[in-house]
Amino acid sequence: MDKLELKFKQTLEKIKLNKKDKILVALSGGKDSTVTAYLLKKFDYNVEGFHIDLGMGDYSKKCLNSVKELCEKYDIKLHLYDIKKEMGNSMCYIRTAIQTTTGKGLKNCAICGVIKKWIMNREARKLKVDEIATGHNLDDEVQTFLMNILKGSPQLSANSGAITQNVKDKKFITRIKPLFYVAENDVREYSKKMKLPVVYEHCPCAFDSYRIQMRQFTNDLTTKEKENIIKNFDNLSENIQKLKTSEELHYCEKCGEPSRNKICKMCQLMKIK
Ligand code: SF4
Ligand SMILES: [Zn+2]
Repeated sequence: MDKLELKFKQTLEKIKLNKKDKILVALSGGKDSTVTAYLLKKFDYNVEGFHIDLGMGDYSKKCLNSVKELCEKYDIKLHLYDIKKEMGNSMCYIRTAIQTTTGKGLKNCAICGVIKKWIMNREARKLKVDEIATGHNLDDEVQTFLMNILKGSPQLSANSGAITQNVKDKKFITRIKPLFYVAENDVREYSKKMKLPVVYEHCPCAFDSYRIQMRQFTNDLTTKEKENIIKNFDNLSENIQKLKTSEELHYCEKCGEPSRNKICKMCQLMKIK
């Protein structure tokens, strides 16, 4: 078996993923989520795909085409969410409106990420899925872990890991990251070797994120060093979880979605009255 496939399989075994569970893969059209869906299907998991069309011009069209091609070719049921139809405007428009009205200098990805997570959780619940699978890889996780440490908030990593750990709530869909231990370069190579339909270009709106700066910082690390960081994270995980104050999960007073605050981040951004 290919080395990447083995790591993927071992991760699913580690998190004890049940073959009967209905898993919804958050498909972006990029290499990571594409490989995640492809391998879950290859290993006979009960997998469906979910794609949010962000309406960001040519880039979004290419992503949509790749996702459709993947799902047709590998017989994966695809659910589409068109943000323009559902929310009235493209992500670029919504984001600019939020940045203009809040004036807090919020980064593009911070806004887009909150909106996508909110949509994913709600739609996954409607589809009665057991888990949402995302394409986060070893590099993403190293960056997140380091970003949280540099922000002085290691407790923000408490829910990280190949499976969400702390949040147990009937309205919150468990997230899994089967590529958690696989380096980004290996995912890229594998997607090319398997000739998967992937958009390799970067999102045109990702230019200002803190993550990009962190990526430049971690680019020079070897895979072994990145693995060591995540190994340390795994070892520290229990202690990091203790750092968490006893946070309760509320239901947002505006939209009813699970939230750590009375008003969820999505409603705070959208200023839903
Ligand atoms: S890279 Fe950032 S702006 Fe682009 S789709 Fe992802 S979260 Fe949104
Ligand atoms: Zn809300």
